[in-house]
Amino acid sequence: MDEMFSIGVDLGGTNLRIASYAGGVDFLDTILVPTRLAEGRERVVRDMCEAIQALATKDYGSRRLTGIGIGTPGPLELPEGILRNPPNLPGWDGFDLRQAIESTLGRSVEIDGDANVAALAEQKFGAGQTHNVKSLCMLTLGTGVGNGLILNEHIWHGSTGMGGEGGHIIVQDVDGAACGCGGFGCLEQYASAPAIVRMAHELMGSAAPATSHDIALLAAEGDPQCRLIFEKVGHALAIALTGLINTLNLPLYIIGGGVCEAWDLFAPVMFRELQLRSYVYRLTAPEILQPTQLERHKTYILGAQLGPSAGLLGACLLPLQQKSGSSQLLEDPLVHQ
Ligand SMILES: [Zn+2]
Repeated sequence: MDEMFSIGVDLGGTNLRIASYAGGVDFLDTILVPTRLAEGRERVVRDMCEAIQALATKDYGSRRLTGIGIGTPGPLELPEGILRNPPNLPGWDGFDLRQAIESTLGRSVEIDGDANVAALAEQKFGAGQTHNVKSLCMLTLGTGVGNGLILNEHIWHGSTGMGGEGGHIIVQDVDGAACGCGGFGCLEQYASAPAIVRMAHELMGSAAPATSHDIALLAAEGDPQCRLIFEKVGHALAIALTGLINTLNLPLYIIGGGVCEAWDLFAPVMFRELQLRSYVYRLTAPEILQPTQLERHKTYILGAQLGPSAGLLGACLLPLQQKSGSSQLLEDPLVHQ
């Protein structure tokens, strides 16, 4: 990566974060601007491209720009880069985001799902690096529940770019809460921040705190109803992880996002239920759940290490990843490497 820098964009429903990057976990420069969704998607793309240009033309000595990576809410159709009915970007259904950005900038960009790039960053510089793990599955509990799958250091895209939508694994009966994806009873409806607020309202009515953070604070103080909400979160995570662990048998599952501040509230139920529900977990469960060093042939579920900058870091890594290896869209990296 010497003598090169990349630019990454974290396209969020509230903020656009743009950074220049030359290795490690720190950025060279960052720009934060609001995502002006109300003014239309062309406005957002223009804001994004102006910030990219501002960083692209900065003087970084002998470093030259090697590529631009964009992390966007999905679902995203790849390799084209077309958004398909993204719940957090209303009105962007069918939007050819890649084409819009590339025609404005006059150069190609790498584009990927926001949870995918966050998982890539966690593998390269977070828990994956700490524990020398090349394959992991990450769930991000925030406004929604994102999911990214890294196999042998590469994002798993599936055949059309839509692999890794584990936030929409069904964890309740088919008559569970309606989800933005069109389904019912998805993990996202039981483990995201809005879901926690909704469940609190269902349980406590108008007495419910207004944010998941406040509900977590009350739960930590011992409020039985608020504690019950996070037990439901742990329960939902265990059901989703049972499916993922039984299917994937990876060494490491990472849970990130703002809801993770309540780890001590949801994790005991999550681990207890996993022991009951997943026989692959039961057969591979470690004695120490969060050790400093991971044992081989065990299944670990750990909190994310990088925090909210993981998505931006992953977007910066995207062009470097594309340059240094191939992104096998249709091939299984475990088989082909
Ligand atoms: Zn869903």
